[in-house]
Amino acid sequence: MPLDQAAISPMDRGFLFGDGVYEVMARVDGRVRAKSLHEQRLAASLASIQLDVSVEQIFNDVDRLIEKANLESAKIYVQVTRGAAAVRDHAFPVDVAPTVFLTISDFQVMSYGAGKAIVRPDIRWRRNSIKSVSLLGNVLLMQEAKASGAQEAILFREEYVTEASTSNVFVIRGNTLVTPPLSDLILPGITRHLVLEMAEVLGIAVIEQNVRVDSLADADGVFVSSSTRGLMPINELSPGGTVGHGQLTEPFLALQSAYDERLRHHD
Ligand code: PLP
Repeated sequence: MPLDQAAISPMDRGFLFGDGVYEVMARVDGRVRAKSLHEQRLAASLASIQLDVSVEQIFNDVDRLIEKANLESAKIYVQVTRGAAAVRDHAFPVDVAPTVFLTISDFQVMSYGAGKAIVRPDIRWRRNSIKSVSLLGNVLLMQEAKASGAQEAILFREEYVTEASTSNVFVIRGNTLVTPPLSDLILPGITRHLVLEMAEVLGIAVIEQNVRVDSLADADGVFVSSSTRGLMPINELSPGGTVGHGQLTEPFLALQSAYDERLRHHD
């Protein structure tokens, strides 16, 4: 239905408590990129908040939405909350149907040029592996980045990089790619997963290891990854200054073109 005809109760727990999870996927040239990985991650997010909804049904509805919208290249959001109970209570309501909200909009994944990132303490909660709709920390950090003329906020906890406000973080040293290991503190990014697979094919060594925040500016390159940004190089940090020599590295360029190829020619 048109967006202005869609309605959600003000008692919805997504609105009252941020009690829900979501997914965002890119459709490129008629195919949803890495669809099964998005299905798996949504299932994991739902399980971790004990919300029992059929992911299969949701993705059938996604297919129907795509068919109706008839957009070859698009951005698709899936939001699932614990629904609207009659009474406001923190504890889970009984016998309340979840709310499922799907949107699709015209969107082109493109390769971004080098950008700037602010570097800030990770003020978010400690369960960032759940793709939660509670994004206030991310919102405040991204707003700070924007106000500083930057495109991202790279985050750290106790001197170590976690991720960025809307993406995962990678560091390039020589022909080696370093990225923080998966943990509760970061989202298991689908693009991160694809980058690690492509690095292996390209013969780029990969180390999943904690990265000291004060080592970022000394790297040969830094980039962030997400389904909507693709692989975006960061050549300036604040604080930190220019990354490496301020130039895109060979491993980055190889990964970026492998990613473009993968977007267009694989599921
Ligand atoms: N980390 C955070 C906090 C994000 O919000 C996102 C994407 O929205 C990512 C990482 C990247 O995830 P993906 O590659 O699955 O888009």
